[in-house]
Amino acid sequence: MNSMRIVMLGPPGSGKGTRAHLISEMYDIPIISTGDILRETAENNNERGKKIRKILDRGKLVPSEIVNELVKEKLHELDTENGYILDGYPRNEEQFEALKKTLDERKEELNYVLYVDIDDKILIERLSKRRTCPECGAVYHLKFNPPEEDLICDQCGTKLIQRRDDKPKVIKKRLEVYRKETQPLLEKYQEKGLVKKIPGNVDLEALPCIIRGILG
Ligand code: AMP
Repeated sequence: MNSMRIVMLGPPGSGKGTRAHLISEMYDIPIISTGDILRETAENNNERGKKIRKILDRGKLVPSEIVNELVKEKLHELDTENGYILDGYPRNEEQFEALKKTLDERKEELNYVLYVDIDDKILIERLSKRRTCPECGAVYHLKFNPPEEDLICDQCGTKLIQRRDDKPKVIKKRLEVYRKETQPLLEKYQEKGLVKKIPGNVDLEALPCIIRGILG
C-alpha cells in the first residue's frame, strides 16, 4: 500500500473526527488530533495546562508555536510508515506554512486533504447535542446516535460528558474562528490539487464505501 498522509479539513461539528477514526481503522494509520492532545494537556493542573484550558474554554486557537511543536513531536514518536491523519491541523496560515516545512524536513508530501462538506445549519445542532466519552474518545449524538444506555459509553461503560467547548457561546466563537482562520486554507490546498470532498451528513454505515471510493 502507498503511504497515505491525510489532512482533515472542515468546521467544528462536521464529523472530521469520526471520519478520521474510520479511516485510521480501515487503513491502519495513526491519527494526530491536536484537539485531543490539547484537551489532555489542559487536564494538567500546571501553568501550561491552565493556560491551554482557558484558551479552549473561549473557543480560541492555541498559539501556533505550541501546536506546531506538538505535531512535530507526535510525528516523530508514532509509526508513520503507512502514513498518518492530521485531524484539526493546520488551522491557520502560520500552521499551514509550518506543516509545509515539517513535511519538507521529513521528505514527505501530503496525499489528500479531505474536506468535510456540510450545511451550516446542521453544525450547531450537532455540536450542542454531542456527548463524548472521556475515556475512549467515542462520540455520540443524543438524537441521531444515542448510546444504548442513557449517557453511558457503549464501548467502555464510562459516563459520557459534554465537552466544555460544546456550549452555545463557545460554539459560536469556534465557528467564527474557523471561517476566518481555517476556511482560507481550503483554497490553498485546492490550488495544489489535493482536496477531495467527503460528505458530512450521511449515515455512518455509508461512510466506509464512500471512503474507499475516495482513497481506493
Ligand atoms: P477540536 O477538537 O479540533 O474541535 O479542537 C478543540 C479546540 O482545541 C479548538 O477550539 C482550539 O481551541 C484548540 N485547537 C485544536 N487544534 C488546534 C490547532 N491546530 N491550533 C490551535 N488550536 C487548536
